Amino acid sequence: MTKSSKQKSFAHTLGKPLTKENVSTLQINLGRRCNLACSHCHVEAGPHRTEELSEKVLAQILEIIDHSPQIKTIDLTGGAPEMNNGFERIVEKARSKNMEVIVRSNLTIFYVVGYEHLPEYFAKQKVRVVASLPCYLKDNVDTMRGKGVFEESVDAIKQLNSLGYGKDLILDLVYNPQLPSSEEKFSLPPPQENLEKEYKKFLMKHFHISFNNLLTISNIPIGRMKSYLKRKGLLEKYISFLARHFNPKTVSGLMCKTQLSIDYDGNVYDCDFHQMEKIPALSQEGEPITLDFLLQQDNLNIIKSIPLKDYCYGCTAGCGSSCGGQIQ
Ligand code: SF4
Ligand code: SF4
Repeated sequence: MTKSSKQKSFAHTLGKPLTKENVSTLQINLGRRCNLACSHCHVEAGPHRTEELSEKVLAQILEIIDHSPQIKTIDLTGGAPEMNNGFERIVEKARSKNMEVIVRSNLTIFYVVGYEHLPEYFAKQKVRVVASLPCYLKDNVDTMRGKGVFEESVDAIKQLNSLGYGKDLILDLVYNPQLPSSEEKFSLPPPQENLEKEYKKFLMKHFHISFNNLLTISNIPIGRMKSYLKRKGLLEKYISFLARHFNPKTVSGLMCKTQLSIDYDGNVYDCDFHQMEKIPALSQEGEPITLDFLLQQDNLNIIKSIPLKDYCYGCTAGCGSSCGGQIQ
C-alpha cells in the first residue's frame, strides 16, 4: 500500500505491540468454493474456486478440537463453508465436545442441489448461524451479492424461524456498509443497537421474519474491496478515513487477541484478514506457525504478538469491528 506522507502506519498509531491472550476460538476457513461471488467478498470466493481442506489438514483440525478443552468456539467460514470438504465432520466433532459452533452461511446455499437438508441439520446440531444480509432493502442486497439473493435469503430465514431460529436457536445477521463510490460516501457502520432495532422492525413488518442479533462489520480494505478502491483511486483516502476514526478503546476487544485462524492448507494466522493477505502468525522465534507446529508443541498459546498492517485501522475505527460485530 502506498501511503501519503502524512498517513501514520497503524503500528505507529498503536504505539505498542498487540499481544495475544489465551486462545479460545478457532476460526477455520474450509475453502474458497461458494455458490455466490459477492462484490465485497474479502476472500474472493466463487463457484469456480476449488481450494478446500485436504484430508490431512482435516485430520489435524479434528485432533486439535479433540485435545484442546480451552477452545470454546469453532467458527466455520469459507467460501460457503457448507460446500467444502470436512464441514459436517468438524461440526459434529466440536458439538460432541460441547463447543459452540458458528457457521457463517450465505443462506442461499439452502437452495443449491445437495444442500437442501442444511436448515434441519443446523437445528439438530444446534449450531449458531451467522448470515450475511448486508441491508434490509432488496435492491441494495442484490447489487452487492447478486440478483435474487435477497428473496432467497428471506425464504431461508423463514425456514430457519420455523425450526426455532430467532428464538432459542441463534440466528445472527451481518451488516456491511455499501461500497463507497466516492470519498464523500465513506462510512463506518452505524451504532449496532439502533440498526438492529430498525432491521427487526422492518423484517418483521414486511416479511414476518425474526433473528437474534445484528452484527455490524466494517469493510476492511483487502481482497475485492481493496481492488475496487484501487480502481476508483480511493484506497489511500479510505485508509486515511479509517485512521482518522481510530478508537483506542476498541483494542482490548480485537478478535485477533483470542483467536487462531486456520486456512485449508493448515497454515495458522491471527485473523481471517491476515489469512487473506498471507500474513502468518509467528512463533516467539519468528517462524510462521502451521498446524504441524501446533500439534508438535501441544499448546495453542504460543504466540506473543500479532503482526500489524494498515488495514487494522478497519477493526479499530469508530465502535470497532470484528467477526462478532461491533466491539464496544
Ligand atoms: S457469500 Fe460470502 S464467501 Fe461467498 S462470495 Fe459472498 S461474501 Fe464471499
Ligand atoms: S486486521 Fe483486525 S483482527 Fe486482524 S490483526 Fe489487524 S486488528 Fe487484529
